[in-house]
Amino acid sequence: MSHFKSDVVIIGGGMVGLCLAHQLLERGLASAITVLEKESELGRHSSGRNSGVLHAGLYYKPGSIKAQVCVHGARRLRVWVEERGLPLNPCGKVIVPQRPELDSQLDVLAERGSANGARVEFWDEAQLRQLIPEARSASGRALWSPNTAVVKPITVVWRLQQELRERGVVFLEGRPGWTAVPEHRQLRLADGSTIAYGHLINSAGLQADRVAHPFGVGRHYSLLPFKGLYWQLKRGCPIQPCTNLYPVPDLNVPFLGVHFTPSADPAPVVSIGPTATPAWGRENYRGLQAVEPVMAAANLTVLARQYLGNRGGFRRYVHEQAFLALPPLLLRAAQELIPSVRPEHLELSQKVGIRSQLFNHATQRLEDDFLCLPGPASTHVLNAISPAFTASFALADLILDEASPRMALA
Ligand SMILES: Cc1cc2nc3c(=O)[nH]c(=O)nc-3n(C[C@H](O)[C@H](O)[C@H](O)COP(=O)(O)OP(=O)(O)OC[C@H]3O[C@@H](n4cnc5c(N)ncnc54)[C@H](O)[C@@H]3O)c2cc1C
Repeated sequence: MSHFKSDVVIIGGGMVGLCLAHQLLERGLASAITVLEKESELGRHSSGRNSGVLHAGLYYKPGSIKAQVCVHGARRLRVWVEERGLPLNPCGKVIVPQRPELDSQLDVLAERGSANGARVEFWDEAQLRQLIPEARSASGRALWSPNTAVVKPITVVWRLQQELRERGVVFLEGRPGWTAVPEHRQLRLADGSTIAYGHLINSAGLQADRVAHPFGVGRHYSLLPFKGLYWQLKRGCPIQPCTNLYPVPDLNVPFLGVHFTPSADPAPVVSIGPTATPAWGRENYRGLQAVEPVMAAANLTVLARQYLGNRGGFRRYVHEQAFLALPPLLLRAAQELIPSVRPEHLELSQKVGIRSQLFNHATQRLEDDFLCLPGPASTHVLNAISPAFTASFALADLILDEASPRMALA
């Protein structure tokens, strides 16, 4: 049993927590930093299981926090990855309308992208076919984003952890089952040890609402998990897109639709996905693993109400995306982008992730933007959805701009 003191304790060693630790050091805001992680190694959840796309910033409403941090964060992370020689595929991205009536959405995306400082170009079908001969645009137009890139997320997480460790950040891994005593600025670990802190930052990803509630923070929010399954093109498949190929998304919901993404391997594997199907548990990656029946039932009720009220155009999400875990529907979605894809070209990928989408019970809506709330001697990052991986360095700075005046050291 031991008793530690730390200026700042960060709950959760995902990309957001790691970048917060990095920026606390860079800005000289704290020197004694502890990252408390429930898993025995980092990267077991979203930060190690995502598509690895460094988004260029096209999707986000100008003025939103996502828009503020995505473009700048992507540039910073890309430079960080390049400086270390970690895998990076600078392959760009092309967005195509899968139905003619979606064509005007390309203009919306181009306007948003330009307003957010991202580079975009309109392409005609000949330009699209030059890059991906089998691709199709329902309207003959496509939007090209040259600055989108792909990394291997787990290599990023592990390298950043290694560097932070070398700079003195303490990682306490394999530590589930702790309790918070906010009035004493103290955490009690399962083995009886305690950590006294000056400030606590909750970046617990899929569990962030559960960590926040004992601090009296965000009680009208809960996270809804959506499972993202991936398929991939078989190695010998004659179709191998060399760039990201995305559909025009429904900008009312936070999912981008099933897309083709080449990996950052020397011989890229092209994944197709992720799907966005309500999950039976926040960590229910496979089968019956980590199923939470009570939570699942409550969430289904919430989602049924969203559907019936068609809040935020929710019905379109259900009709177009909720059932894509079914292989024939996934194939159909893939064929909207590349009609010649056949069932024999596809195999299920080992990759699977779960997205935590914050639901606001007061407004009865899904939260679309990042949300960071202050608490007693603490800060709670409640909705670190995509593109939080891309934006992580810039997002960490934004969080610390708000939190640092409230920080007292232990
Ligand atoms: C399928 C999928 C595809 C995605 N694709 C992209 C993409 O291409 N580009 C992009 O920018 N973003 C993408 N995202 C989003 C991105 O992965 C997340 O926004 C980002 O990783 C969030 O990081 P985080 O640190 O907040 O969460 P996490 O990576 O989930 O980290 C949270 C950590 O907290 C730990 N933790 C939880 N509870 C506790 C507790 N009680 N005590 C201690 N530790 C705890 C967890 O074990 C975990 O390690 C995708 C997400 C998914 C799921």
